[in-house]
Amino acid sequence: MIAVHRLGVARISSASANLRRNHTWSQCFDAIQSRNPTYNALISVQSRSALEQSAAASDKRYQQGKPLSPLDGTPVVVKDNFCTTALPTTCASNMLKDFTSPYDARVVQLLTDAGAIMMGKSNMDEFGMGSANIYSEFGPVFNPLDGPKQPTLDNHRVAGGSSGGSAAAVALGMCKIALGSDTGGSVRLPASYCGVVGFKPSYGRCSRNGLVAYANSLDTVGILSQTVDDAQTAYDVIAQYDENDPTSMPVPLREAVDGQDRALAEKWSSDDLSELVVGIPAEYYVDPLSLEVKEAWRRGIQCLKERGASIVSVSLPHTRFALPAYYIIALAEASSNLARFDGIRYGHRSGDKNSADDLLYADTRSEGFGPEVQRRILLGTHVLTAGTYEKHFLPAQQTRRLIQRDFDDVFLSPNPLYSSKEAAAESMGTKAHVLLTPCGISSAPTIEESRHSSRPVDAFVNDVMTVPASLAGLPAIAIPFAKSSDSGYPIGLQLLSQYGHDRSLLRIARVLSECK
Ligand code: GLN
Repeated sequence: MIAVHRLGVARISSASANLRRNHTWSQCFDAIQSRNPTYNALISVQSRSALEQSAAASDKRYQQGKPLSPLDGTPVVVKDNFCTTALPTTCASNMLKDFTSPYDARVVQLLTDAGAIMMGKSNMDEFGMGSANIYSEFGPVFNPLDGPKQPTLDNHRVAGGSSGGSAAAVALGMCKIALGSDTGGSVRLPASYCGVVGFKPSYGRCSRNGLVAYANSLDTVGILSQTVDDAQTAYDVIAQYDENDPTSMPVPLREAVDGQDRALAEKWSSDDLSELVVGIPAEYYVDPLSLEVKEAWRRGIQCLKERGASIVSVSLPHTRFALPAYYIIALAEASSNLARFDGIRYGHRSGDKNSADDLLYADTRSEGFGPEVQRRILLGTHVLTAGTYEKHFLPAQQTRRLIQRDFDDVFLSPNPLYSSKEAAAESMGTKAHVLLTPCGISSAPTIEESRHSSRPVDAFVNDVMTVPASLAGLPAIAIPFAKSSDSGYPIGLQLLSQYGHDRSLLRIARVLSECK
């Protein structure tokens, strides 16, 4: 009677549900066995016996009519920078190669408490630093569209980074849902390159407790899935207040924002978007955008228009400063966060474990960190030194504030983080409920192209579409929308909305994802 297994379908007979779920987890396990050696999406995989045990416990709950949540029995994958007790947490770094956490990250615990089955931990750019998933101690992740032949570095494409393993795992059927982390686009860009959904909730919605920090003021837990509905189901489970995360959105603010957000979500609950205003930011129309991305963007606009939405042009004048501001702030924070890996207390230790000489710190860090992480720590340390701090770091922080203001000026709803007085000073320019932009400047580049940008910083341009939302802490989602006519590789579009409007954004994203 039940033909399709969908997350969140509660009223299904338990016998059919068991069948489908068993089938699903074992199918995912088979996909891991057959495809991981080629694509390198997962760093560690849960044992078959442990998976069987979790699945049997879940079956039992369904038989008793007491599933823990709509996620009960759902196979999930977790990026390898979330602490887990069941499997090691390496951050794809030599620094943490032998590390297993004594506790689970809060979001991992929430997934487990909801009955989800953790299949494995996914590959990533070391400590989340990268856009192509080529900076991993475990080797690059290959794009799932590369075909089943053993990919080679020169003619195969990247999965995107830094959550490339999570995006590829979803696309390759190794799980239904994957967790990623998004500091400047690390969930959205790989989602776009791999043709899956990638959702970055508002900063502070999901706990970062147990997520190994890259840049605290930007790090956000993200969700990758095949459909927007699946992302929504996972979001409902993991978007909880956590007293152990000082940046977790406080409960009173959550309640206030949720009221507004739910009312909007109700409005966009059907395909009829006639009251929706969609803003198209002129500043995202940049030179490096490929023709086919421009064409996908045009078709995305058309799609929303056909569903009744009004399309307006909006202006975010400080967008062009977002990339430099992001790389100054992110690397400064990274240099401070990664200082703890010193060979004394955390991570890899160079040489004899019981002795410490003058070079311990330097040796530990040059053996433990890969070249990209070293480069970023150097740059981050540099921008925090006297003189450079005033010249670069402080202006970057000021620019961040201007970028946040730009967004506040174009959204119809005020930013709930600021008082109504501050909001009253907003501009009277054109406003919108959501913004539609491309997600990346092109479809996935080849691994070789990504490795040989003429200067390492040239690779940063891939993040130009995603970092502004990160600087402003806004919710943003990548939707698979088109395929490159040349290569057949996926192209994603990005929807952004006001801080806290996560659920209403998901509703609109679902409509966009169904336009083909
Ligand atoms: N590509 C960006 C960077 O390298 C974003 C990474 C991320 O979001 N973790 O910083």
